[in-house]
Amino acid sequence: MSYAAERAVALAAVREAAALCQGVQAQMRVRSIEKADQSPVTLADYGSQALICSRLRRAFPQDAIIAEETADMLRSEDGSMARSGVCREVWKLRPDATEEEILQWIDYGDQKAFVERYWTLDPIDGTKGFLRGDQYAIALALVVDGMVEVAAVACPNLTLSVYPEVAGCMAIAVRGQGAFLHALDDAKEVGPLHVSAVMRPAEARFSESFESGHTSHSTSARISGALGITKAPVRMDSQAKYVAVAAGDADMYLRLPSGRAYIENIWDHAAGMLVVTEAGGRVSDVRGMDLDFSQGFQLSNNTGVLASNGKLHEALLEAVSEAL
Ligand code: AMP
Ligand code: MG
Repeated sequence: MSYAAERAVALAAVREAAALCQGVQAQMRVRSIEKADQSPVTLADYGSQALICSRLRRAFPQDAIIAEETADMLRSEDGSMARSGVCREVWKLRPDATEEEILQWIDYGDQKAFVERYWTLDPIDGTKGFLRGDQYAIALALVVDGMVEVAAVACPNLTLSVYPEVAGCMAIAVRGQGAFLHALDDAKEVGPLHVSAVMRPAEARFSESFESGHTSHSTSARISGALGITKAPVRMDSQAKYVAVAAGDADMYLRLPSGRAYIENIWDHAAGMLVVTEAGGRVSDVRGMDLDFSQGFQLSNNTGVLASNGKLHEALLEAVSEAL
């Protein structure tokens, strides 16, 4: 399968959503709302999901979508202010949509269980980074029979060393076809993405979450010490970390369980994983197992995540297994 249509729709969808997110981030004081699990959500998370789901449903009406947000809060009495805010943002790009349509678009993403063919979407990955004015990503992937086939990751605030002229980018990958970078402003393909050539662990630079609640910074410090790493870690939010590994700006990405049992969500990894593997790298969990996208909305068969340029993966797995 070439997945040419899926690739084109994914690219156009994350690009439009990125425009909405950039508009919101540019406003002074982006406010966040606390979800039931105490994680933050913004108008842009909902707006991005509405835009992307509406495009996916129009292009591929049979496909299920497993996305992070639902419109429940927006439909509630307490949510009326937020609902107006979300619609105001979406109307800037889709002036003809009704309020009910926008909520319905968001709810197209309410699939939870595994199905043969589904899209998985994080409308804003790294919401905490988005609120800080730092890195965030819009991450979309198509999964068929449990295999990630197409991935699009928009990183509006990311500039890569290999393409310094591109401020704000989209990484796109189709399984077996390589990973490529596109500019966010004109959607033009800039060039291919390749992982670094670093072979010696001591020379590696690793990336990890900015938020210490999402990964154990103390364990990664022990691991990097054991590997003889001297370069400071690149700490950033979202799947921009996967794009950094795919482009050689980081050689590894460590996501290490931080105390309490946490099961990763598929939308935080599906797109980034394909971008890294298609750029020549390797992605596994902390035990070296492939990420299993056949379990519904969570990676319930996996613990943590390790991504690397491939050459460093065995050494990394060994150091991680000793440290854990
Ligand atoms: P990052 O920006 O890489 O730190 O990851 C952001 C994502 O971390 C969010 O989308 C959450 O789904 C996820 N997350 C929330 N709590 C945890 C946790 N305790 N461990 C790992 N990931 C988490
Ligand atoms: Mg996320």
